[in-house]
Amino acid sequence: MQKIFLKTYGCTLNQSDSDLIEAMLDGGGHEFVKSADDADTIIVNTCAVKETTENKILWYLKDLESKGKKVIVAGCLTTANLPAVKKASPKAIAYVGPNSVGKIPLILENDIHGRNFGSENGNLDHENLSNSNNWHLNNNGNSLAIQSNQPNSSMPSNSPILELKDDFASKFDLTKKYGQSIFARIQTSSGCMSNCTFCATKIARGKFKSKPPSLILNEARLAIKSRAKEIQLASQDNGCYGYDLQTSIPKLLPQLNDLDGRFRIRVGMANPQHFLKNIDEWLEAFRLPKVYKFLHLPIQSGSNRILKLMNRGYTIDQAIDVAKEFRKKFPDMTLETDVIVGFPGETEAEFEQSLDVCSQLGFEVVNFAKYSKRPGTKAAKMVQIDTLIKKKRSEIINTHVKQIALSQNQKLIGNEYDVLITEEGKNGYMQGRAQNYRPVLIKKLKPDGSNWGIGEFAHARIADASVTSLIAK
Ligand code: SF4
Repeated sequence: MQKIFLKTYGCTLNQSDSDLIEAMLDGGGHEFVKSADDADTIIVNTCAVKETTENKILWYLKDLESKGKKVIVAGCLTTANLPAVKKASPKAIAYVGPNSVGKIPLILENDIHGRNFGSENGNLDHENLSNSNNWHLNNNGNSLAIQSNQPNSSMPSNSPILELKDDFASKFDLTKKYGQSIFARIQTSSGCMSNCTFCATKIARGKFKSKPPSLILNEARLAIKSRAKEIQLASQDNGCYGYDLQTSIPKLLPQLNDLDGRFRIRVGMANPQHFLKNIDEWLEAFRLPKVYKFLHLPIQSGSNRILKLMNRGYTIDQAIDVAKEFRKKFPDMTLETDVIVGFPGETEAEFEQSLDVCSQLGFEVVNFAKYSKRPGTKAAKMVQIDTLIKKKRSEIINTHVKQIALSQNQKLIGNEYDVLITEEGKNGYMQGRAQNYRPVLIKKLKPDGSNWGIGEFAHARIADASVTSLIAK
């Protein structure tokens, strides 16, 4: 039995991978501890989306290495930039790509028993090796790299590598444990269908593959039966869910909505181009009572020239049309987006176009990021924008989107909502989510003198608003 500390960086999908790691090791009798100091082994589930995040992770790995800690490095950075990870953590037990998390229990087991990877009794499992061409062993006793052999994976040729062909099915089959949290992060797919020129995630997670609806429904049923009140459908792009299975999110949502129980469904990010051919089906599905009136529609830029350089696959007018159709159907919905500022070649005027689109569509949430070069991406080879200009633009958009969020929230004063209580707030308040996924602060004390609990639904009238939330009476 090992004491494990699990550190997770990045998006809902990576959080969901960590849920899988936790369930597998918990099932194996290991104990999760709250700090790296108390741990025998530390699993760092990395993210490759931004340079600043990468630098933070590499610094953390170096620190663990200097303390002689046992480390398994997992997640997108192991595939997007393995050389940097190995430099920061040369003595890691293993480097595990995002699609191979299912192998972590075996890696840990073998490390605990000082066995060579891949065999139960210390001898190589030739039987397994000979039957499938999954394994090409180059075992020289150093730490092992386990990684999907995606065509553009950046593996240096001289490192001791054990390459594992991705086995989505096995990852999709992995079940999580539910019961602790009211949130259930359910992966709907792996990889991505797009090839954005700035993106390291595509390099890390590879080609797109949908999870069969039956597995998603099973997982949701299990989660709701335990304690889940919010199903979060996680993916790099929910817009293309089901392309390879003749299904789609609009077809999946009615089945999820029909499951017994009082819960909500949050559809994670989906790119604009995937709504164009069947927008009516999407709008119909979002009308379902358990579906949050919330859409995360990453636009990335308001300029068509920049969208082309990004290889995003839609025009800004198409993205605007999608957002407007949703807003027309659900006037008080929450629209979230992602915007990159300072993409190579972005002019002042093109930056202004991004600001204009944010105002025009009234995005309540804008995740903006300064463009940062990612290894192995096309945009990294383009002429870069000066860091000071990126910094200035990021300050401008920060103020701009806060003003939009405040005015959008103020429009909802006087409205009434059924709020799912999701966490403890400050100053005698609880925090929750209304049907439109807007955060709502509610006084902890109920009219009957007891306190609201996490997972309960409270009916609330909105009395005030701030940049980040609504405040109930
Ligand atoms: S849609 Fe683009 S940015 Fe998003 S994961 Fe796919 S390739 Fe990366």
